[in-house]
Amino acid sequence: MSRQRGVAGKEIGEVLGHKNAVRAFFVALALIFIIPVYFLINHLSGTYASHMTAVTAWLIVAEVIEMGMACAGYFIFSKGYRSYYNLYYMTQYYSVTAFGLIISGFYLNVTGSTIGYIISAAGVILIPVLDGLYFKLFMGYYSVAAMVSVITAHRAGEDIAEVVCLCVMSWAAAAVIERCVCGREQTRIRLRAKSISADMDPLTALANRRGLDRKAAVLWPYCARTQTNVGLIEIDIDFFKKYNDRFGHPAGDKCLKEVAHAIKNTAKRNVDITARTGGEEFIIFVQNMTEAELVEFAMKVRKSVADLKIAHAYAGVSEYVTVSMGIAYGVPGEDYAFDDMYEEADRALYKAKNSGRNCIVCGNRVYGRMRGGVGAVI
Ligand code: GH3
Ligand code: MG
Ligand code: MG
Repeated sequence: MSRQRGVAGKEIGEVLGHKNAVRAFFVALALIFIIPVYFLINHLSGTYASHMTAVTAWLIVAEVIEMGMACAGYFIFSKGYRSYYNLYYMTQYYSVTAFGLIISGFYLNVTGSTIGYIISAAGVILIPVLDGLYFKLFMGYYSVAAMVSVITAHRAGEDIAEVVCLCVMSWAAAAVIERCVCGREQTRIRLRAKSISADMDPLTALANRRGLDRKAAVLWPYCARTQTNVGLIEIDIDFFKKYNDRFGHPAGDKCLKEVAHAIKNTAKRNVDITARTGGEEFIIFVQNMTEAELVEFAMKVRKSVADLKIAHAYAGVSEYVTVSMGIAYGVPGEDYAFDDMYEEADRALYKAKNSGRNCIVCGNRVYGRMRGGVGAVI
Protein backbone atom coordinates (compact mmCIF):
# COMPACT_ATOMS: atom_id res chain seq x y z
CA MET A 1 0.00 0.00 0.00
CA SER A 2 1.41 3.33 -0.90
CA ARG A 3 2.02 5.87 1.81
CA GLN A 4 -0.80 8.34 1.62
CA ARG A 5 0.84 10.75 4.02
CA GLY A 6 -1.45 13.69 4.45
CA VAL A 7 -4.17 11.89 2.57
CA ALA A 8 -6.52 10.37 5.03
CA GLY A 9 -9.35 7.85 4.96
CA LYS A 10 -11.97 9.74 3.07
CA GLU A 11 -9.42 11.11 0.67
CA ILE A 12 -7.88 7.72 0.05
CA GLY A 13 -11.27 6.67 -1.20
CA GLU A 14 -11.43 9.74 -3.39
CA VAL A 15 -7.87 9.39 -4.59
CA LEU A 16 -8.04 5.70 -5.35
CA GLY A 17 -11.60 5.73 -6.48
CA HIS A 18 -14.15 3.42 -5.00
CA LYS A 19 -13.41 0.64 -7.48
CA ASN A 20 -9.70 0.55 -6.66
CA ALA A 21 -10.35 0.72 -2.92
CA VAL A 22 -12.62 -2.30 -3.22
CA ARG A 23 -10.05 -4.09 -5.35
CA ALA A 24 -7.32 -3.30 -2.81
CA PHE A 25 -9.52 -4.62 -0.06
CA PHE A 26 -10.01 -7.97 -1.80
CA VAL A 27 -6.34 -8.31 -2.72
CA ALA A 28 -5.51 -7.76 0.96
CA LEU A 29 -8.10 -10.32 1.91
CA ALA A 30 -6.71 -12.84 -0.57
CA LEU A 31 -3.19 -12.36 0.73
CA ILE A 32 -4.36 -12.81 4.29
CA PHE A 33 -5.60 -16.25 3.27
CA ILE A 34 -2.68 -17.13 1.02
CA ILE A 35 -0.06 -16.74 3.75
CA PRO A 36 -1.50 -19.23 6.29
CA VAL A 37 -2.23 -21.61 3.43
CA TYR A 38 1.34 -21.34 2.31
CA PHE A 39 2.60 -22.10 5.82
CA LEU A 40 0.14 -24.94 6.16
CA ILE A 41 1.29 -26.57 2.93
CA ASN A 42 4.87 -26.14 4.07
CA HIS A 43 4.06 -27.75 7.38
CA LEU A 44 2.05 -30.65 5.95
CA SER A 45 4.62 -31.45 3.31
CA GLY A 46 7.29 -31.46 5.97
CA THR A 47 9.28 -28.76 4.17
CA TYR A 48 11.64 -26.93 6.44
CA ALA A 49 10.09 -23.56 7.22
CA SER A 50 13.26 -21.73 6.50
CA HIS A 51 14.27 -18.27 7.50
CA MET A 52 13.46 -17.33 3.92
CA THR A 53 9.87 -18.20 4.48
CA ALA A 54 9.89 -15.88 7.44
CA VAL A 55 11.50 -13.07 5.50
CA THR A 56 9.01 -13.45 2.71
CA ALA A 57 6.23 -13.57 5.22
CA TRP A 58 7.09 -10.26 6.80
CA LEU A 59 7.46 -8.61 3.45
CA ILE A 60 3.99 -9.71 2.50
CA VAL A 61 2.42 -9.26 5.91
CA ALA A 62 3.78 -5.72 6.19
CA GLU A 63 1.99 -4.94 2.97
CA VAL A 64 -1.17 -6.63 4.12
CA ILE A 65 -1.23 -4.75 7.41
CA GLU A 66 -0.85 -1.48 5.64
CA MET A 67 -3.36 -2.18 2.97
CA GLY A 68 -5.84 -3.58 5.42
CA MET A 69 -5.48 -0.47 7.55
CA ALA A 70 -5.92 1.80 4.58
CA CYS A 71 -8.99 -0.04 3.38
CA ALA A 72 -10.43 -0.20 6.88
CA GLY A 73 -9.79 3.52 7.09
CA TYR A 74 -11.67 4.08 3.90
CA PHE A 75 -14.63 1.89 4.75
CA ILE A 76 -14.93 2.47 8.50
CA PHE A 77 -13.48 5.89 9.20
CA SER A 78 -14.44 7.62 6.00
CA LYS A 79 -16.46 10.18 7.91
CA GLY A 80 -14.19 11.11 10.78
CA TYR A 81 -11.04 10.78 8.77
CA ARG A 82 -8.83 12.89 11.00
CA SER A 83 -8.95 10.28 13.74
CA TYR A 84 -8.29 7.69 11.10
CA TYR A 85 -5.21 9.57 9.99
CA ASN A 86 -3.62 9.32 13.42
CA LEU A 87 -4.75 5.79 13.98
CA TYR A 88 -3.51 4.71 10.61
CA TYR A 89 -0.03 6.08 11.02
CA MET A 90 0.47 5.15 14.65
CA THR A 91 -0.71 1.57 14.24
CA GLN A 92 0.86 1.03 10.89
CA TYR A 93 4.22 2.33 11.94
CA TYR A 94 4.47 0.48 15.23
CA SER A 95 2.92 -2.77 14.11
CA VAL A 96 5.06 -3.07 11.02
CA THR A 97 8.18 -2.06 12.88
CA ALA A 98 7.56 -4.43 15.78
CA PHE A 99 6.69 -7.28 13.48
CA GLY A 100 9.70 -6.68 11.29
CA LEU A 101 12.04 -6.60 14.25
CA ILE A 102 10.69 -9.87 15.62
CA ILE A 103 11.06 -11.57 12.26
CA SER A 104 14.46 -10.04 11.72
CA GLY A 105 15.51 -11.41 15.08
CA PHE A 106 14.28 -14.79 13.96
CA TYR A 107 16.23 -14.37 10.76
CA LEU A 108 19.35 -13.59 12.73
CA ASN A 109 18.77 -16.58 14.95
CA VAL A 110 18.47 -19.02 12.07
CA THR A 111 21.16 -17.69 9.80
CA GLY A 112 23.51 -15.99 12.18
CA SER A 113 23.76 -13.30 9.51
CA THR A 114 24.15 -9.89 11.14
CA ILE A 115 24.11 -8.14 7.76
CA GLY A 116 20.85 -9.81 6.88
CA TYR A 117 19.43 -8.71 10.21
CA ILE A 118 20.53 -5.10 9.80
CA ILE A 119 19.18 -4.90 6.27
CA SER A 120 15.82 -6.39 7.08
CA ALA A 121 15.42 -4.43 10.32
CA ALA A 122 16.50 -1.15 8.73
CA GLY A 123 14.14 -1.73 5.86
CA VAL A 124 11.23 -2.37 8.14
CA ILE A 125 11.94 0.69 10.21
CA LEU A 126 12.64 2.94 7.25
CA ILE A 127 9.90 1.94 4.85
CA PRO A 128 7.08 3.65 6.74
CA VAL A 129 8.95 6.96 6.82
CA LEU A 130 10.38 7.02 3.33
CA ASP A 131 7.29 8.44 1.71
CA GLY A 132 8.15 10.53 -1.40
CA LEU A 133 11.02 8.50 -2.75
CA TYR A 134 9.37 5.52 -1.21
CA PHE A 135 8.58 3.46 -4.25
CA LYS A 136 12.04 3.43 -5.79
CA LEU A 137 13.76 2.82 -2.48
CA PHE A 138 11.23 0.20 -1.61
CA MET A 139 11.86 -1.77 -4.78
CA GLY A 140 15.61 -1.29 -4.38
CA TYR A 141 15.31 -2.58 -0.87
CA TYR A 142 13.41 -5.64 -2.02
CA SER A 143 16.10 -6.38 -4.58
CA VAL A 144 18.88 -6.07 -1.99
CA ALA A 145 16.91 -8.24 0.44
CA ALA A 146 16.48 -10.83 -2.30
CA MET A 147 20.19 -10.88 -3.13
CA VAL A 148 21.22 -11.15 0.51
CA SER A 149 18.68 -13.90 0.98
CA VAL A 150 20.06 -15.91 -1.93
CA ILE A 151 23.65 -15.49 -0.77
CA THR A 152 22.92 -16.45 2.83
CA ALA A 153 20.81 -19.40 1.73
CA HIS A 154 23.62 -20.57 -0.52
CA ARG A 155 26.09 -20.34 2.37
CA ALA A 156 23.72 -22.22 4.66
CA GLY A 157 23.47 -24.93 2.01
CA GLU A 158 19.75 -24.42 1.45
CA ASP A 159 17.73 -24.96 -1.65
CA ILE A 160 18.38 -21.80 -3.66
CA ALA A 161 15.52 -22.47 -6.04
CA GLU A 162 13.06 -22.16 -3.17
CA VAL A 163 14.71 -18.96 -1.98
CA VAL A 164 14.68 -17.38 -5.42
CA CYS A 165 11.10 -18.41 -5.90
CA LEU A 166 10.08 -16.83 -2.61
CA CYS A 167 11.96 -13.64 -3.36
CA VAL A 168 10.35 -13.29 -6.76
CA MET A 169 6.96 -13.97 -5.23
CA SER A 170 7.33 -11.33 -2.55
CA TRP A 171 8.80 -8.86 -5.02
CA ALA A 172 5.98 -9.42 -7.48
CA ALA A 173 3.34 -9.20 -4.75
CA ALA A 174 4.79 -5.91 -3.60
CA ALA A 175 4.97 -4.59 -7.13
CA VAL A 176 1.41 -5.57 -7.92
CA ILE A 177 0.08 -4.02 -4.75
CA GLU A 178 2.12 -0.89 -5.13
CA ARG A 179 1.66 -0.23 -8.82
CA CYS A 180 -1.53 -1.80 -10.04
CA VAL A 181 -3.79 -1.58 -7.05
CA CYS A 182 -2.79 1.69 -5.51
CA GLY A 183 -1.03 3.33 -8.44
CA ARG A 184 0.00 6.26 -6.33
CA GLU A 185 2.13 7.99 -8.90
CA GLN A 186 -0.49 7.62 -11.59
CA THR A 187 -3.09 8.93 -9.19
CA ARG A 188 -0.96 11.95 -8.43
CA ILE A 189 -0.45 12.69 -12.08
CA ARG A 190 -4.15 12.24 -12.72
CA LEU A 191 -5.04 14.58 -9.89
CA ARG A 192 -2.59 17.19 -11.11
CA ALA A 193 -3.98 16.92 -14.63
CA LYS A 194 -7.47 17.25 -13.20
CA SER A 195 -6.61 20.44 -11.34
CA ILE A 196 -4.99 21.85 -14.47
CA SER A 197 -7.97 21.07 -16.63
CA ALA A 198 -10.37 22.52 -14.06
CA ASP A 199 -8.77 25.92 -14.72
CA MET A 200 -8.25 25.43 -18.41
CA ASP A 201 -10.46 25.55 -21.45
CA PRO A 202 -9.89 22.22 -23.20
CA LEU A 203 -10.62 23.52 -26.71
CA THR A 204 -8.17 26.41 -26.80
CA ALA A 205 -5.87 25.54 -23.86
CA LEU A 206 -6.34 29.09 -22.55
CA ALA A 207 -7.49 29.67 -18.97
CA ASN A 208 -11.24 29.41 -18.48
CA ARG A 209 -13.32 31.74 -16.34
CA ARG A 210 -12.35 29.86 -13.21
CA GLY A 211 -8.67 30.02 -14.16
CA LEU A 212 -8.95 33.74 -14.86
CA ASP A 213 -10.65 34.38 -11.52
CA ARG A 214 -8.01 32.42 -9.67
CA LYS A 215 -5.14 34.23 -11.36
CA ALA A 216 -6.84 37.60 -10.87
CA ALA A 217 -7.38 36.83 -7.19
CA VAL A 218 -3.60 36.57 -6.83
CA LEU A 219 -2.63 39.48 -9.10
CA TRP A 220 -5.25 42.02 -8.04
CA PRO A 221 -4.07 42.55 -4.43
CA TYR A 222 -0.47 42.63 -5.65
CA CYS A 223 -1.28 45.32 -8.23
CA ALA A 224 -3.25 47.23 -5.57
CA ARG A 225 -0.24 47.18 -3.26
CA THR A 226 2.18 48.28 -5.97
CA GLN A 227 -0.35 50.72 -7.50
CA THR A 228 0.11 49.14 -10.91
CA ASN A 229 -2.07 50.11 -13.87
CA VAL A 230 -4.06 47.17 -15.14
CA GLY A 231 -6.22 46.73 -18.21
CA LEU A 232 -8.85 44.26 -19.28
CA ILE A 233 -9.69 43.66 -22.92
CA GLU A 234 -12.85 41.72 -23.59
CA ILE A 235 -12.95 40.22 -27.07
CA ASP A 236 -15.97 38.78 -28.85
CA ILE A 237 -16.08 37.25 -32.32
CA ASP A 238 -18.53 39.02 -34.60
CA PHE A 239 -21.51 37.12 -35.95
CA PHE A 240 -20.12 33.85 -34.78
CA LYS A 241 -23.52 32.25 -34.69
CA LYS A 242 -23.79 32.85 -38.41
CA TYR A 243 -20.34 31.34 -38.89
CA ASN A 244 -21.46 28.19 -37.11
CA ASP A 245 -24.71 28.08 -39.01
CA ARG A 246 -22.93 28.43 -42.32
CA PHE A 247 -19.82 26.30 -41.80
CA GLY A 248 -20.85 23.91 -39.05
CA HIS A 249 -19.82 23.46 -35.43
CA PRO A 250 -16.50 21.66 -36.10
CA ALA A 251 -15.39 24.53 -38.35
CA GLY A 252 -16.55 26.90 -35.58
CA ASP A 253 -14.34 25.09 -33.11
CA LYS A 254 -11.38 25.30 -35.46
CA CYS A 255 -11.99 29.03 -35.85
CA LEU A 256 -12.12 29.46 -32.05
CA LYS A 257 -8.79 27.68 -31.75
CA GLU A 258 -7.16 29.86 -34.38
CA VAL A 259 -8.47 33.06 -32.83
CA ALA A 260 -7.30 31.88 -29.39
CA HIS A 261 -3.89 31.16 -30.85
CA ALA A 262 -3.67 34.62 -32.41
CA ILE A 263 -4.67 36.22 -29.09
CA LYS A 264 -2.17 34.18 -27.12
CA ASN A 265 0.60 34.98 -29.59
CA THR A 266 -0.05 38.71 -29.31
CA ALA A 267 -0.28 38.82 -25.50
CA LYS A 268 3.24 37.57 -25.00
CA ARG A 269 4.38 39.21 -21.76
CA ASN A 270 4.62 36.69 -18.99
CA VAL A 271 2.34 38.75 -16.75
CA ASP A 272 -0.39 38.80 -19.41
CA ILE A 273 -3.36 36.55 -18.75
CA THR A 274 -5.40 35.22 -21.63
CA ALA A 275 -8.64 33.35 -21.14
CA ARG A 276 -11.66 32.02 -22.96
CA THR A 277 -14.49 33.03 -20.70
CA GLY A 278 -17.45 31.92 -22.76
CA GLY A 279 -18.44 30.52 -26.16
CA GLU A 280 -16.67 33.01 -28.43
CA GLU A 281 -15.52 35.46 -25.78
CA PHE A 282 -11.94 35.97 -24.72
CA ILE A 283 -10.16 38.09 -22.15
CA ILE A 284 -6.71 39.61 -22.02
CA PHE A 285 -5.59 41.03 -18.69
CA VAL A 286 -2.48 43.20 -18.89
CA GLN A 287 -0.36 45.32 -16.57
CA ASN A 288 1.54 48.59 -16.84
CA MET A 289 -0.08 50.04 -19.95
CA THR A 290 -1.44 53.53 -20.47
CA GLU A 291 -4.78 54.04 -22.19
CA ALA A 292 -3.04 54.78 -25.50
CA GLU A 293 -0.87 51.69 -25.18
CA LEU A 294 -3.92 49.56 -24.39
CA VAL A 295 -5.70 50.76 -27.51
CA GLU A 296 -2.60 50.20 -29.62
CA PHE A 297 -2.25 46.72 -28.16
CA ALA A 298 -5.92 45.91 -28.82
CA MET A 299 -5.47 47.08 -32.43
CA LYS A 300 -2.60 44.62 -32.73
CA VAL A 301 -4.82 41.82 -31.44
CA ARG A 302 -7.55 42.83 -33.87
CA LYS A 303 -5.05 42.79 -36.73
CA SER A 304 -3.69 39.40 -35.71
CA VAL A 305 -7.22 37.96 -35.94
CA ALA A 306 -7.90 39.70 -39.25
CA ASP A 307 -4.60 38.37 -40.60
CA LEU A 308 -5.86 34.83 -40.06
CA LYS A 309 -8.13 35.55 -43.04
CA ILE A 310 -10.77 33.08 -41.96
CA ALA A 311 -13.45 33.43 -44.62
CA HIS A 312 -16.78 34.61 -43.22
CA ALA A 313 -18.75 36.00 -46.14
CA TYR A 314 -21.91 36.21 -44.07
CA ALA A 315 -20.47 38.52 -41.42
CA GLY A 316 -21.54 41.71 -43.11
CA VAL A 317 -18.65 43.71 -41.60
CA SER A 318 -15.81 42.04 -43.46
CA GLU A 319 -15.21 39.06 -45.70
CA TYR A 320 -13.13 37.54 -42.91
CA VAL A 321 -13.76 36.71 -39.27
CA THR A 322 -13.46 39.83 -37.12
CA VAL A 323 -13.66 40.67 -33.44
CA SER A 324 -15.09 43.49 -31.34
CA MET A 325 -13.38 44.58 -28.13
CA GLY A 326 -14.21 46.47 -24.98
CA ILE A 327 -11.41 47.88 -22.85
CA ALA A 328 -11.42 48.84 -19.17
CA TYR A 329 -8.46 50.03 -17.17
CA GLY A 330 -7.54 51.46 -13.80
CA VAL A 331 -5.56 50.93 -10.64
CA PRO A 332 -6.82 48.19 -8.35
CA GLY A 333 -7.89 49.40 -4.95
CA GLU A 334 -10.64 49.28 -2.38
CA ASP A 335 -13.04 51.14 -4.65
CA TYR A 336 -12.02 49.32 -7.80
CA ALA A 337 -12.44 45.54 -7.78
CA PHE A 338 -11.75 43.06 -10.55
CA ASP A 339 -15.49 42.60 -11.09
CA ASP A 340 -15.91 46.38 -11.54
CA MET A 341 -13.31 46.35 -14.28
CA TYR A 342 -14.92 43.32 -15.88
CA GLU A 343 -18.32 45.05 -15.96
CA GLU A 344 -16.77 48.15 -17.45
CA ALA A 345 -15.12 46.11 -20.22
CA ASP A 346 -18.44 44.36 -20.80
CA ARG A 347 -20.22 47.68 -21.27
CA ALA A 348 -17.48 48.87 -23.63
CA LEU A 349 -17.81 45.66 -25.67
CA TYR A 350 -21.56 46.20 -25.90
CA LYS A 351 -20.89 49.68 -27.27
CA ALA A 352 -18.40 48.23 -29.78
CA LYS A 353 -21.09 45.84 -31.01
CA ASN A 354 -23.50 48.73 -31.34
CA SER A 355 -20.90 50.81 -33.15
CA GLY A 356 -20.83 48.45 -36.11
CA ARG A 357 -18.54 45.66 -34.75
CA ASN A 358 -14.93 44.97 -35.86
CA CYS A 359 -13.89 47.82 -33.59
CA ILE A 360 -12.53 48.67 -30.16
CA VAL A 361 -14.20 50.77 -27.47
CA CYS A 362 -12.16 52.34 -24.71
CA GLY A 363 -13.59 55.04 -22.48
CA ASN A 364 -16.09 56.88 -24.64
CA ARG A 365 -14.21 56.41 -27.84
CA VAL A 366 -14.42 53.91 -30.62
CA TYR A 367 -11.29 52.87 -32.49
CA GLY A 368 -10.54 50.66 -35.41
CA ARG A 369 -13.18 51.14 -38.02
CA MET A 370 -12.26 54.83 -38.17
CA ARG A 371 -9.48 55.66 -40.55
CA GLY A 372 -6.11 56.45 -38.95
CA GLY A 373 -7.14 54.72 -35.75
CA VAL A 374 -8.28 58.02 -34.25
CA GLY A 375 -11.07 57.42 -31.78
CA ALA A 376 -14.47 58.77 -32.67
CA VAL A 377 -16.49 59.92 -29.71
CA ILE A 378 -19.67 57.94 -29.05
P1 GH3 B 1 -22.26 39.14 -32.07
O1 GH3 B 1 -21.54 39.73 -33.21
O2 GH3 B 1 -23.33 40.05 -31.56
O3 GH3 B 1 -21.33 38.71 -31.00
O4 GH3 B 1 -23.02 37.86 -32.63
P2 GH3 B 1 -22.68 36.36 -32.37
O5 GH3 B 1 -23.43 35.54 -33.34
O6 GH3 B 1 -21.20 36.17 -32.35
O7 GH3 B 1 -23.17 36.17 -30.87
P3 GH3 B 1 -24.16 35.16 -30.22
O8 GH3 B 1 -23.95 35.32 -28.73
O9 GH3 B 1 -25.53 35.34 -30.76
O10 GH3 B 1 -23.65 33.74 -30.67
C1 GH3 B 1 -22.54 33.12 -30.16
C2 GH3 B 1 -22.42 31.79 -30.84
O11 GH3 B 1 -21.23 31.12 -30.44
C3 GH3 B 1 -23.54 30.86 -30.46
C4 GH3 B 1 -22.92 29.49 -30.50
O12 GH3 B 1 -23.38 28.78 -31.59
C5 GH3 B 1 -21.44 29.76 -30.69
N1 GH3 B 1 -20.61 28.99 -29.77
C6 GH3 B 1 -20.52 29.10 -28.43
N2 GH3 B 1 -19.64 28.21 -27.95
C7 GH3 B 1 -19.15 27.52 -29.01
C8 GH3 B 1 -18.20 26.45 -29.16
O13 GH3 B 1 -17.59 25.97 -28.21
N3 GH3 B 1 -17.96 25.99 -30.40
C9 GH3 B 1 -18.60 26.51 -31.49
N4 GH3 B 1 -18.32 26.02 -32.70
N5 GH3 B 1 -19.49 27.50 -31.37
C10 GH3 B 1 -19.77 28.00 -30.17
MG1 MG C 1 -20.09 37.14 -30.87
MG1 MG D 1 -20.71 36.50 -27.31
